[in-house]
Amino acid sequence: MKKILLFILALCLYFPVFGAVFAETATSDEVGEAAENDIVLNDGTPWIDYCLRENIAQVDQKPDSPKDDFFLWADYDWLKSAEIAQGNYYTDAFLETEEEVMDQCLEVLTDPTLKSGDAALAQYLYKACLDWDARNALGVAPLQKIIDRIRAVSTLDELTQMLGSEDYTGFRFFQTDIATSFNHPGIWITDIRPIDLLLEDSAEYRERTGQGELLEAAYTEMISKMLEKLGYSPEEAAGMITRAFALETELADGIKTSAEEMSPDFYRLINNEMSRAEAETLCSAFPWLEILDGRGWAGVQRYRVQQPAYLQKLDGIYREDRLEDLKDFLIARTADLYMLSLDRESYDLIGTLYSVYGIEGIMPDEEIACRTVRQCLPAQTANAFFEKHDPAKMKADITRLCEEVIDYYRKMLSGEDWLTEETRAKAIEKLDKMRIVAVCPEKWPDYSGLSFEGLGYFDCLQEIDQAELAFIKSLADQPADPDLWYSGGEDSWANDILLCTAAYGAEINTIFVSRGILGGVFYREDMSEEELYGAIGLVIAHEISHAFDPTCSQFDADGKMNNWWTEADYAAFDARAKKVIDYYNGITVFSGLQVSGDNVQGEAIADLGGMKCMLSLLEEKKEDVDYRTFFESFARIWREIITWEGEYYNLLQDPHPPTYLRTNTVVQQVPQFFETYGITEGDGMWLKPEDRIQVW
Ligand SMILES: [Zn+2]
Repeated sequence: MKKILLFILALCLYFPVFGAVFAETATSDEVGEAAENDIVLNDGTPWIDYCLRENIAQVDQKPDSPKDDFFLWADYDWLKSAEIAQGNYYTDAFLETEEEVMDQCLEVLTDPTLKSGDAALAQYLYKACLDWDARNALGVAPLQKIIDRIRAVSTLDELTQMLGSEDYTGFRFFQTDIATSFNHPGIWITDIRPIDLLLEDSAEYRERTGQGELLEAAYTEMISKMLEKLGYSPEEAAGMITRAFALETELADGIKTSAEEMSPDFYRLINNEMSRAEAETLCSAFPWLEILDGRGWAGVQRYRVQQPAYLQKLDGIYREDRLEDLKDFLIARTADLYMLSLDRESYDLIGTLYSVYGIEGIMPDEEIACRTVRQCLPAQTANAFFEKHDPAKMKADITRLCEEVIDYYRKMLSGEDWLTEETRAKAIEKLDKMRIVAVCPEKWPDYSGLSFEGLGYFDCLQEIDQAELAFIKSLADQPADPDLWYSGGEDSWANDILLCTAAYGAEINTIFVSRGILGGVFYREDMSEEELYGAIGLVIAHEISHAFDPTCSQFDADGKMNNWWTEADYAAFDARAKKVIDYYNGITVFSGLQVSGDNVQGEAIADLGGMKCMLSLLEEKKEDVDYRTFFESFARIWREIITWEGEYYNLLQDPHPPTYLRTNTVVQQVPQFFETYGITEGDGMWLKPEDRIQVW
């Protein structure tokens, strides 16, 4: 269920998922240079951002001590030697850990001894994805069919008919999925969301940032090349894209901005659950219910329309005299939608987009195919993986660690004297009912009947879409099986258990630790307790602490949207959160760019809570704690090298603080850190006790 279900710890690996040749193009190069001219990268305060590859390149000696910049000191050797791989814009501990699983996964996808039906499907898709001869032979023909169908539409009624037919697979004006209800936990409802915007943030359509201009230039170039491959002249293509962007600008006006999405209020604002009768009153011209019914959703009783303002924008545009605009928009977005699923020439166009993020080079085809299979067939890939690698011991170990952390939070909450008994009891109930999904879920969506016999890559993907659609439609209005793991087709990282991540889901009150994070610097069976607690332990503690952050506290132990804080307790919490916001607002990353305390507060509070939790747990368990090992294990999980374009994008869109801050500002809040390294007033890492921002 997309962005709103789970909170990922690391930056979602969205862009590097599909690597491509770096396309040198006049447009993006020119804009890129213009943007680069005024950028100063090493003016950060209180620390320089040494995640930026340009900044670390200027340092030629490890600092003598950790007293001024712990991150730089602790991760120095790695920072100096790490290189951003081809086809990517950053590298970090998460990506490195995932590489380990990737190698194992590639073996699974090519192992002829695996006999299960799941392994056969995953292996078939992998092979089909890499079969460039077959893909090139088809060229853009599969897309041409969809485009021709849109072109042939001559009235608004015909458009409605096409959009409402089950066999139309082009771009749509809104997204439909299944999600658990915020108001009646345990019931699946039909979830209606706006489209994903090309420029990602609706604020870009009101006022372009440098990043927005780069994205617009990149999409204009890519889509126009696709349209030319589909038979349009360059002039026709240019006109269509201009009109498509203009229409998207009108639609964006009804979509919440990224900043609004990151605000704790967002979930309350999108909780627009309604009956069929209420849904029918939303639009007069745009027949969204008729379209849904036509696609097999007839008979549905409950809807959540996340952003009614968006449907109302569509309502104003869906008119006979706007038919050509509507068609141009659908054609342009459909061309973009299928760019990666066709021949090599289309596929390589994505390199233009990558240049916006400073990505150079190409990711190996096998890796791209492996990621694609994991995203498209998460259950089948996971089952095939576990056919070869038994997860039992890892699952038991990680479940135990999660239980330990939950126990600690129970104790910690009991000791928080600024909370009233009433709020504390509700918080503890949340811990008591919290579910743990470690390594892999109990039950996957059922795509039975899925078969690829004789199909090429494009048709395989269409079959998967159909199977998923049939599955989610079968859930609408049904009671949710708590063991079933489904979080939507869009945020496939939540399904892909081989991705290096962990998450907490408020509406299912569940902590999730993926198989993909259990390696590298995060987890080894032979780790000392200090190492273990400083690494995967902290990740788990961070996620569980989300249960009490400003966003997730709006959900109770059963996943119901129901604020369980007393007003006075929430005011006290808010005052503490305000201190965190102010502190992060005062940090400059580069070129005068500040962190947004508002955007990162939830993640920052979880980082701080996680640190306190694991440190206390360690001290409870051991007499002679080796603090250095603990803090340095912690620093290792946050090492990262990134392009400045990528860091800039994160500052705008990512609710997590940059990783050098996730190290330095977090260790600064605990006295054990200062004692361990002898840090005192005057050192760069020093923070006066009264300025510390611990929330819990
Ligand atoms: Zn988080």
